[in-house]
Amino acid sequence: MHIIRFSIIKLVNWDKFGNFVSMLCLIHCTVLPLLAMVLPLSVFLDESVHVWLFIALLPAAIFGAWSGWRHHGDGKPSLLLAAGLALVGSAAFLPMSTAAEIAVTIPGSLLLIAGHTLNRRLNLISHIAGARPTNP
Ligand SMILES: [Zn+2]
Repeated sequence: MHIIRFSIIKLVNWDKFGNFVSMLCLIHCTVLPLLAMVLPLSVFLDESVHVWLFIALLPAAIFGAWSGWRHHGDGKPSLLLAAGLALVGSAAFLPMSTAAEIAVTIPGSLLLIAGHTLNRRLNLISHIAGARPTNP
């Protein structure tokens, strides 16, 4: 049990990974449609891309929020991450037009980036303050 927790939480920086995938989401919804007008990129505009991005975002948000909360005990990053996941997830799985999907995914990605960034800052502050991680 201890080995599994160690390998999942410690080997991946979930906040960095979550920010990276959220940025991919933003690029997919903002820059790619413009580039696709001049370059053959339409394969990346497929709507299933949002499902794959959500599958990558989900563990990043869950493990990022969990390990962050264990470090700093602040619930704000978890709320931001949950709201972002709800928006990106509904864009990925609920039937809606492409324009609506983009309009929902962009604020969702921004909330995820805000949540992961706040989580990283609070982790850093708790380390600087010398706060020790709580043991379950
Ligand atoms: Zn997109």
